[in-house]
Amino acid sequence: MTAALQGLHQNEADYVWPEVQAVDLSYVTRVHSQDQVRLITELAQTGGGWVDPDTFVVPASYDAALLAVGAAMQATSDVLAGLQRNAFVIVRPPGHHATRSRAMGFCLFNNVAVAARWALDEGGAQRVAVLDVDVHHGNGTQDIFYDCPEVLYYSTHQYPFYPGTGRIEEVGQNDGMGTTVNVPLAAGSGDGVFLDATRRVLLPAVRRFRPDVILVSLGFDAHWADPLAQMRLTTSGYGEILTEIKALADETCGGKLVFLLEGGYDLDVIEAGAGLAGSVLTGKTRPPDRIGAAPAGPEPAASSAAVAAAVETHQLQAGATPNRYAVLARKGAPSNRGAA
Ligand SMILES: [Zn+2]
Repeated sequence: MTAALQGLHQNEADYVWPEVQAVDLSYVTRVHSQDQVRLITELAQTGGGWVDPDTFVVPASYDAALLAVGAAMQATSDVLAGLQRNAFVIVRPPGHHATRSRAMGFCLFNNVAVAARWALDEGGAQRVAVLDVDVHHGNGTQDIFYDCPEVLYYSTHQYPFYPGTGRIEEVGQNDGMGTTVNVPLAAGSGDGVFLDATRRVLLPAVRRFRPDVILVSLGFDAHWADPLAQMRLTTSGYGEILTEIKALADETCGGKLVFLLEGGYDLDVIEAGAGLAGSVLTGKTRPPDRIGAAPAGPEPAASSAAVAAAVETHQLQAGATPNRYAVLARKGAPSNRGAA
């Protein structure tokens, strides 16, 4: 967080820095089970402990988690109400791995999911788009809204990789069929593939969905210098993607846009990325990419195939005007009929 704030420091006067309230747990239980919230609360109250092999809770992290959710909700509220044009929520812990019933992957409560749920319940939004550009699949956000037609969930992510979800065939279910859009990319994918996915999948999917607000799970761990993942996205590439998303928000929902910090494990990248995100939101010229180009390498062919498959699965070809939540009928989908 210090690195991210440092990235905004130079243009500090361009931003407002509101006080944030911890969220009331009744909002958290709109997307998480009572059992999960009770488990985390009791763990924090008894001094702390592991909730999964990656995730440890102490009383201070529990307090931070409630403030993180509160910040996400407040930012979304202020943007929907027109009090702020857009917002960047810089918080820890992140949230997108927290499922309805399980905290995992450094995440206790799902910040973006609580904010999206609040936007629908009380913020006046009828449809919310959640765009996940973290290198990991946001399994928690997908899980929470998998059957919800009011939330479009889009994700690009390294695959196969932690947490193992995010195949193209995961498209939502029941009323939410078609509102989950996954683009699993092979390790080594760089700016070209990510921009291709943005332009051929993200943009048409969001235009078709017509959201009232766009929330972005913004992780900087798809950067080539990140120590946890193996992608080759550059800071400039992030800038291109975020600029496309900003223009998309201007086009589809009056510019109502909230970035929420998810992962990112190289502090220089976080600092540069946060500065970049701030410049995109405030309409300033993007800063030069001081971290530079990724090591040379070809784009993996599997990634181009994944983008094409996502386009086909969700019927996003240029000129196509299918139903709002179109999904190609899946070949070999499991049948409910028992084996003969
Ligand atoms: Zn991540």
